[in-house]
Amino acid sequence: MTTIFAKIVAGELPADIVYQDDLVTAFRDINASAPTHILIVPNHVIPTVNDISEEDEMVLGRMLHVAKKLAAQEGIAEKGFRLIVNCNEWGGQTVYHLHMHLLGGKPMGPMLSS
Ligand code: 5GP
Repeated sequence: MTTIFAKIVAGELPADIVYQDDLVTAFRDINASAPTHILIVPNHVIPTVNDISEEDEMVLGRMLHVAKKLAAQEGIAEKGFRLIVNCNEWGGQTVYHLHMHLLGGKPMGPMLSS
């Protein structure tokens, strides 16, 4: 299975990549919702949270650790930031390659808009 994000990971599609290692890639969202809006994705395709397996625990931990490091790098750690993972239609997921949104640089407001 391939996805837009898998193509970005492979360097086949352009993106503003801010971090990459053997397990995860992070790049700026093309349609930023905040001054900092970075997507952190596993290098291999896991479509949704529903598809996570025990073997993915390492990569999931890495995603969170990279989020922490990027928040510091972006200068948003102290004020605070938000991490979001959407799942399936009602969760608002549009790209079926698991990703964590790192959002910050302004007050994020209430957790849900409606
Ligand atoms: P979701 O709604 O699935 O949680 O989030 C998908 C995110 O991917 C959206 O915020 C959208 O702006 C972003 N996105 C979709 N296509 C691309 C792309 O080709 N490049 C980048 N950098 N971001 C994308």
